[in-house]
Amino acid sequence: MMPPDTPFLARRQEVLHVEDLALPELALAFGTPCHVYSHAALRANLRAFQAALGAHPAGARGLVCYAVKANSNLAILNLFARMGAGFDIVSGGELARVLAAGGDAGKVVFSGVGKSRAEIRAALAADILCFNVESAAELERINEIAGTLGKRAPISLRVNPDVDPRTHPYIATGLETAKFGVPIGAALALYEHAARLPHIRIEGVDCHIGSQILDCAPFREALERLLVLLDALEKHGIPVKHLDLGGGLGVAYRQDEVAPEISACLTPLLDRLEDRKLNLILEPGRRLTAQAGLLLTRVEYLKPGESVNFAIVDAAMNDLLRPALYGAWHEIVAVTQKKGTPAAIYDVVGPICESGDFLGQKRALAIEPDDLLAILSTGAYGMAMSSNYNTRPRAMEIMVRGDAAHVIRRREETADLYALERLLPARSPSVPFSGLTVETDKNIASHEQTC
Ligand SMILES: *Cc1c(COP(=O)(O)O)cnc(C)c1O
Repeated sequence: MMPPDTPFLARRQEVLHVEDLALPELALAFGTPCHVYSHAALRANLRAFQAALGAHPAGARGLVCYAVKANSNLAILNLFARMGAGFDIVSGGELARVLAAGGDAGKVVFSGVGKSRAEIRAALAADILCFNVESAAELERINEIAGTLGKRAPISLRVNPDVDPRTHPYIATGLETAKFGVPIGAALALYEHAARLPHIRIEGVDCHIGSQILDCAPFREALERLLVLLDALEKHGIPVKHLDLGGGLGVAYRQDEVAPEISACLTPLLDRLEDRKLNLILEPGRRLTAQAGLLLTRVEYLKPGESVNFAIVDAAMNDLLRPALYGAWHEIVAVTQKKGTPAAIYDVVGPICESGDFLGQKRALAIEPDDLLAILSTGAYGMAMSSNYNTRPRAMEIMVRGDAAHVIRRREETADLYALERLLPARSPSVPFSGLTVETDKNIASHEQTC
C-alpha cells in the first residue's frame, strides 16, 4: 500500500519504481541506505502551489518561499529557484546554501527566534526580502546593525495568532505558550515602535502556526486574526505590503489520512484577500518535499522473538529521526513483492544502540534477509534531521529524473566523520590557560614537537 499522493511511485512486475527507475538497480549501483527523490514529484508539488496562486485574481501577487529546513540539498534548492520560488531560511547557513544553489536573495525571508549578529549582517549584506522578527529584542538588534551598515532593514513581525493547528505538540508553533513570534495582542504596539526606528522598514505581517496541518480551517482562522491586525495597523498609519502565512500544510503519511488539496486550502484565503492590495507569501516545506522522497534500506537480519519479531535494517534513526523523535509513522514496503514468502509482523529497527531506534513498529512484511525495503514519505525532515550518531556516515542522496539517477550528495566516508577532530598533545603547555589560547593545528603541532 502506498500513501496517497505519491504518483511517482509505482510497482511494475512486482518491483517498486521511482519514476522509470527500478529501486533494486539503484541499490546495486550505489549501495544502501539511500535517500531517493523524484524530480517530477518535487516539480509537481511546487507547481501546484504556483498554479493555485496563478489561477486566482489575487494570486498574481503571491510568492512561494520554500522552507529550506525541510530538505536543504543544493540540487533541490536549485530546482525550486529555477522554477521561480523564493526561500524561507532559519539560519545563516541556509542563506549560504540558497545563494550557493543560485537562489535569489531578493526572494528570501529569514525566520527564527535566535538570529545572531553575524547572521543578521550576512542577510543585510545579501539584501534579503524580509526579516521575520520574533521579538522586541531582535528588532532592536536588527535596527542597530542596519544602522552600522547604512541600511534600512525590511521587516515583518512574526505574530502569534494563538490558533490551535491541531497537530503534534512538538510542531505546533502558533499557540501563546510557544517560544515563537510575538503575541498578537502586543503586535500593534511593537509595530508602532518599529515605525519609529530609523533603520527599519516595515514590509509585512508574518505568522507560522505549525506543521503537518491536515485541516484548512486553522489557516483561515489565522488569516482572520491577522486581517484585524492589518486594519488596526492601517488605522495607525502603518500600511504593510505583504502578508506571510507561513508553511505547515501537511501530507498523508498513511492511507487513512487525507491531506487537503493545495488549491482547496489556498482559494478561500485568496478570496479573502482579493480586495486588498497585499502580496501573499507562503512558506511550505513538508508539502513540497515529503512525498517526493523515500529511504531505501536493506534488511541485514531477521530476529524472531517471543513477543516481537525484529527486522534489523541498514538505515537507522540517524538517517530518519522522525519515528524516534515524534513517534511519526512512515509507510514501509518491500521493494520486491515476493509470492512465496509468508508475511510476519515486524518492528523495523536500525543498528543504533538505542531502544528508540525504530523506523516502524508492528508492520506486516513478507521479507527475507538482504531484501530491500522502502520507507516512504521521507523527503522532508529526513536527511535534513540526519546525524552521525554511532559514527554512521550519512546516507547518499539520489535524484531520479525519468530513468536516470543523479547523485546529489555522495555517501559520507567514515574518515570524513572525524576529519575535524584532533588529539591532545602529550603534555599541556605550562602557561596557564588564558582564555585566549586557541588550539590551532599550528600550535598543536608545536606542542607535539616539545614532548
Ligand atoms: C518549519 C517552518 C516552515 C515550514 O513548515 P512545514 O510544515 O514544513 O511546511 C515554514 N515557516 C517557518 C517559520 C518554519 O519554521
